[in-house]
Amino acid sequence: MSRTIVIEEPGGPEMLKVVEREVGDPGPGEIRIRHHAVGLNFIDVYQRTGLYPLPLPHALGMEAAGIVEAVGEGVTHLKEGDRAAYAAMPPGAYAEARVMPAAQVCPLPDSISYEDAAAMMLQGMTVEYLFHRVTPIAKGDSVLFHAAAGGVGLIACQWARSEGIELIGTAGTDAKCALAREHGAAHCINYRETDFVPEVKKITKDAGVDVVMDGVGKDTFDASLDCLKPLGMMISFGNASGPVEPVSLLTLAAKGSLKLTRTTLFTFLADHDRCQAMARHLFDKMESGAVKVNIGQRWPLEEIADAHRALEARETTGSTVITL
Ligand code: NDP
Repeated sequence: MSRTIVIEEPGGPEMLKVVEREVGDPGPGEIRIRHHAVGLNFIDVYQRTGLYPLPLPHALGMEAAGIVEAVGEGVTHLKEGDRAAYAAMPPGAYAEARVMPAAQVCPLPDSISYEDAAAMMLQGMTVEYLFHRVTPIAKGDSVLFHAAAGGVGLIACQWARSEGIELIGTAGTDAKCALAREHGAAHCINYRETDFVPEVKKITKDAGVDVVMDGVGKDTFDASLDCLKPLGMMISFGNASGPVEPVSLLTLAAKGSLKLTRTTLFTFLADHDRCQAMARHLFDKMESGAVKVNIGQRWPLEEIADAHRALEARETTGSTVITL
C-alpha cells in the first residue's frame, strides 16, 4: 500500500486528499519505485485547478527520487535496487511508491541525494532545455528571466553564470532579488515596485536582451516583448500569474521581427535518449559545483495543501521538497 495524494474534482488546495492505494507490479516498459523524496512544482497547481485538465480522479505530482523495487519486461536502463529520479508524465509522484513508465526515469548518481534530485529534476531539466535546446544562446548573450528567485529561477541564475550568460532577473521582493543575485543573476529588478522595461533598457544601454524566459505569463508577457532586441527570442514557458492572452502576429513584426515560442518540458523529454542526456547534463552541472539546489522549504506529504497555498501565495523561494 502507498499513501498517495489524489484529486477527485478540480479546485483549491482543499481538493488534495490522502488515500491508501495498492501499488501492484510493473508491466512491460514499467518500473515500481519507492520514493524517498518528492518535488513540488507549479504545474501541480495548474493540474489541481484544471488549467491543465486531467481525467479524474487522478493522483498528482510530477517529480520524485527513490529506489527501483521492480522492473517490467523490456526495461534495460534500470534494475532492482538502483537509485533513480524523474520528472515525468503521468502525474502521481505525490506517493510513497508507484508503478510508472520507465522511459523517463533516470539512474541517479550516488553523489546526488534523493532530496536534491527530487528538488531539481523537473526545474533543472527545464533550465537545461531553456539554455541549450530552444534557441542558440552564446557566452556574452543577455537573458531576461522572470521570477528569478523561484525554483526554476535560482537554477537558471546559476546555470547562466556558469555559461557566461548575463542574466537579468526579476522578483517580487528586495530579499528575493538579493537571493537571485547571490545565485548568479547579474542584475535583479523588483518588478512589484519598479517597471522592468526601462530598467532593462538602462542595463542593456538601450539595446534590449537577446532572449526572454517568462514563466510568469499574463502579468509580464506584453512588457517582456518590449525588452527584446530586434530578432530577439521570447520563450514563454509558464502561467504563474495566469495564462497569456492571444497574441497578434503583427505585434511581433512591429516590435522588431521577434521570435516567439511556448515550450513545455515534456516535448523535450518525450524522446528517451534526449531525456537521459538532459538528466546527465544536469547531474554534471551539479557534480561540478556549478549548480547547487536551493531547498527553500519542506512539507510532509500530509500537509501538501499548505505547500500548494504557499507556492501560489508567492511565499516560497527556490525549490520545495515533500517529505515522506
Ligand atoms: P516558482 O518557484 O518560480 O514559483 C512561482 C513564482 O512566480 C512565485 O514565487 C512568484 O515569484 C512568481 N509569480 C508572479 N506572479 C505570480 C502570481 N500571480 N501568483 C503566483 N506566483 C507569481 O515556480 P516553479 O519554479 O515551479 O515554476 C516557475 C514557472 O515555470 C511556472 O510558471 C511553471 O509552470 C513554469 N514551468 C514551466 C515548465 C515548462 O517546461 N513549460 C517547466 C517547469 C516550470 P515573485 O514573487 O518573485 O514574483
